[in-house]
Amino acid sequence: MAPDGSEDPNTDLFTAQRLWEQSEWDMHTQYRNAVGACVNWDSWVPDDAGAARLCRWLYEKVVSPIEDQLADEFNTNIEDVDNLLLSLGKSKDQRSILLAQQNRLSNHAVICALGVESNAVMAVMDEVYETLPEAAREDANAYTTGRIGKTSIVVVHLPGMGKLNAASSAMRLKSSFPNVGLCLVVGVCGGAPYNSRTKKDIVLGDIIISTGLKQVDFGRYYQSGFVPKDDPEDNFGRPVERLRSFLRMLSETDHYYTRVADATNSTLNALLQSKTGQSLEYPGAHRDHLYESTYQHQCRSEQTCRTCDPTSGAVCQHALDTSCDQLGCEPGHTVARPRLRESGPTHPVVHFGRVACSDGVMKSARDRDRLVEKYDVIGFEMEAAGAWDTFPTVIVKGVCDYADSHKNKLWQGYGAAVAASCMKALLAQWVLLNDLGF
Ligand SMILES: [Zn+2]
Ligand SMILES: [Zn+2]
Repeated sequence: MAPDGSEDPNTDLFTAQRLWEQSEWDMHTQYRNAVGACVNWDSWVPDDAGAARLCRWLYEKVVSPIEDQLADEFNTNIEDVDNLLLSLGKSKDQRSILLAQQNRLSNHAVICALGVESNAVMAVMDEVYETLPEAAREDANAYTTGRIGKTSIVVVHLPGMGKLNAASSAMRLKSSFPNVGLCLVVGVCGGAPYNSRTKKDIVLGDIIISTGLKQVDFGRYYQSGFVPKDDPEDNFGRPVERLRSFLRMLSETDHYYTRVADATNSTLNALLQSKTGQSLEYPGAHRDHLYESTYQHQCRSEQTCRTCDPTSGAVCQHALDTSCDQLGCEPGHTVARPRLRESGPTHPVVHFGRVACSDGVMKSARDRDRLVEKYDVIGFEMEAAGAWDTFPTVIVKGVCDYADSHKNKLWQGYGAAVAASCMKALLAQWVLLNDLGF
């Protein structure tokens, strides 16, 4: 019976409420508030409030008080509750089962092609688990599971670079982790020297976040050269609407743009001071050289090399394997970069824009400039196409070269560090604005 004497279909809840009112149990205040909120239906939000408002109510009235109590009384957080099981005498096997259940719920994925990329991603995760759900143990992908904040993460370590590796890995990921929501392709990429939308220079160590993907190695070869196919059905669709609005909000509002940039910098500083960070340091502005597009990375002496040819642009393998310093690429042929001359610490700038994807590594400044001009792309990468049609996908990449013949691996570590730091900042915003239903 309900308080007004009428039949109440929710008899169990009514009983719980009455017992709760009569109880004199000694318990912590915040915990009392949380249980009280659960049994007192008068304080529930109206039926027509919708799922988003209900989620927020549950978080504020139930989850948040319990989190505060855990922090105040036990000096721990909700993610570490399973660790408490160990101290309370639960066996390691039971803990493993709990973690495996959590892993099954992994709701966001990070795809990395290089070891240096996944190394940086794992270094910014708040916890790395040591278990995998059974289905994931049986598929051919290599995974690492863990969490960032309250969000479960699965990192996919690709067997190699390129779209094919990424596509087959993405299919296996979908089968073993059916709950993946957002897929982040994180690591290093080649950058266009200039972002025409924002009119800002792009320098090494900046970050590129994709708002679209253009495949540039799918097309036809003519006598005059290669022409990419531009039919809509041969190209990638726009990101799903929710993701599109989210990225637009981050890129076009000072509030969110600054929030992501600040969070990226703070994670990056902590990462660079950690043990992993020792191999990911900023190489220095004096090592950031953008050469004129017509100036090739080639052997400089005709006596020592018959392959390298400034007229045709031919480059020998020796030149490709040798640094600009060793080869004698001249500073007089570099383009002035005012931003690099500014004093003080260099903070990476986050650029939003379209990214070009191909299976071949872009090492030609002329082709780079042509594609930048034609498709308004700001970065060049090789993996995202493999995941794009399977998951809502965002590319988060640190610029480690200018996609020209002078590219080398010097900036890969720092590029991976900025990308991982930005991925963490981006994910925090996504979870706050989407997963909690706010
Ligand atoms: Zn040569
Ligand atoms: Zn060079």
